[in-house]
Amino acid sequence: MESGAMYTELDLFIGGERIGSALRSGEPVLNPATGDVIGTLPHATRADLDRALETSARAFKVWKRTLAVDRAKIMRRAADILRDRQERIAQILTLEEGKPLRESRAELTLSIETLDWMADEGRRSYGRVIPGHTPDARVLAVREPVGPVAAFTPWNFPALTTLRKISGALGAGCSIILKAAEETPGTAVEIARAFEDAGLPDGVLQLVFGVPADVSEYLLASDVIRKISFTGSTRVGQNLAAMAASRSIRFTMELGGHAPVLVFPDADIDKAVELMGGFKYRNAGQVCVAPTRFFVHEDVHDRFASALTAFAANLKVGDGLDEASTMGPMANLRRVDAMQAMVEDAKRTGATITTGGERIGNAGYFFAPTVMTGVQDAARILREEPFGPIAPIMRFSGMDEVIAKANSLPFGLSSYVFTASERTARIVSQELEAGMVAVNSATVSLPQAPFGGIKSSGEGSEGGIEGLQAYTQTKLVVQQ
Ligand code: NAD
Repeated sequence: MESGAMYTELDLFIGGERIGSALRSGEPVLNPATGDVIGTLPHATRADLDRALETSARAFKVWKRTLAVDRAKIMRRAADILRDRQERIAQILTLEEGKPLRESRAELTLSIETLDWMADEGRRSYGRVIPGHTPDARVLAVREPVGPVAAFTPWNFPALTTLRKISGALGAGCSIILKAAEETPGTAVEIARAFEDAGLPDGVLQLVFGVPADVSEYLLASDVIRKISFTGSTRVGQNLAAMAASRSIRFTMELGGHAPVLVFPDADIDKAVELMGGFKYRNAGQVCVAPTRFFVHEDVHDRFASALTAFAANLKVGDGLDEASTMGPMANLRRVDAMQAMVEDAKRTGATITTGGERIGNAGYFFAPTVMTGVQDAARILREEPFGPIAPIMRFSGMDEVIAKANSLPFGLSSYVFTASERTARIVSQELEAGMVAVNSATVSLPQAPFGGIKSSGEGSEGGIEGLQAYTQTKLVVQQ
C-alpha cells in the first residue's frame, strides 16, 4: 500500500484529546483511484458523543466571551497554518476523494480565504439602535452567537464545506461539533489539527465520526445543540431539518441541485463550452452546483454539442495524484453504479451518447466524461441529480419555454445563462427559480458572497454576511 505513506493519522478530537483508531473500532478509508485501503477511521462511541456535548457547552461559554478581535487572531493563525501545509493537505484530499491535485489546491485556497474572511467579518457583527418609544428609552437589537452547533459535511468538498461551517460558527462566537464525511476524513483531521496548533481553546471545535444517521440523531436530540448545518442530499437534509424543527432549533441546509444552463443564440459559444465544460467535469461532476441540464437554442445546438463532445473526449481521466490528469475517479462505487444506470435509462428513452457513457477499467471508480443529446423529458437524468460526469443537452426555441423547463424541477440551487443581450440576462436572472444565477460566468462560490439554494435545494446561505448571521440570533433590549 504505497500511497498510504502520504496519508494522515486519523483521530477523533473530543474534549481537547485525540482518540486514534487503536482505541476505537471503525472503518477503512479507501483511495477511489485504486480501491486500496489507506487508513482506518475510529468511530465515536455514545460516551464520546456525550463528552463532546458536555465539552461543547462548556467551551461555548468561553468562546462567546472571547473578544471578537482575539477570536479573529486565532482564526487567522489557523488560516496561516493551513496555508503552510496546503500542499500536503492537497495530497491527502486527492488521495481520499480522487479529484486532481490542482482542484484540491484550488479548493484549499478558497477554503482558507473563507476562513480569513469570516475571521474579519466576526469583528463586524453589528446590531442596531432603534428609535425608542419614550424620550429616555434605549432600544437595541443585538446579535448573539446562537450556541453550540452540530455540523455535517459531505465527501465531495471535504475542505470547503468543512471550513465554511467552522468559519461561520467560530466567527460568530459559537462552539461546533463537526461530523465530517467518513469517506474523506483526513482533510477534516488536518483542519482540526491546524486549529489546535493555532491555540483554539479546547473543545471549541471537536471532530467526530461514526454511522452518519446514528451520530446526527444523537447530537440533534441533545438540549446542548442550538443549531445544525448540513451539506448533502435533499433526502437526508429534509430528515435532519424535520428533527431540528421538532426542537425549534435553527438550521442551514445546503442540499442537492440540478442546475440548468441556458445557452442563447447570441452567446459566445466558445466561452460557454470552455466555462461549462470545465465546470461540468470538475471533481468528476460531483459538485452540487455543477451544470447538469444543458438547454441550447436550436440555432447553436449542433455547434455547442459537438464542441462540448470534443471538450469531454479530450479530458485526461486518471489518478488525481498524476499532475497530467484533468479528471479523477468518482468518489465511490455507488456513484459509478448510479452513472451506469442513468446512461442506460437515457438510452432507453431515446438519447444519443456522443462520447463516454461507460466505466473505465475495473480498478478504481473511473467513469468516462459523457455527453448525450436528444434527451427526452422522461429520462431520469433530467429529474434526478446526476452528481457525475454526464452532460445531457436539449434544444429549445423560445425564452418562455426554456424558463419553464429550467424551473420545472423541485430543485433551485444554481443556474447558468449565456447571452450577449442585457435584456435576456435581466429577464432570465429575474425569472429563474434558483438561489444563484451566473451570467456568462461559472463562478457562484466566493468567500464574500452568500451561497445557498431555494426550493428543495436548501435553506439559508453560507459565505458572506449571511453566512455569519446564520450562527447568530437576535435579542431585543429595551432599557428605560
Ligand atoms: P448520502 O445522502 O447517503 O450522503 C451524503 C452525505 O451526507 C455523506 O457525507 C453522508 O456521510 C452524510 N449523511 C448521510 N446520512 C446522514 C445522516 N442521517 N445524518 C448526517 N449525515 C448524513 O448520499 P451519498 O451516496 O454519499 O451521495 C449521493 C447524493 O448525495 C448525491 O447524489 C448528491 O445528491 C448528494 N450530495 C450532495 C452534496 C452537496 O454538496 N450538496 C454533497 C455530497 C452528496
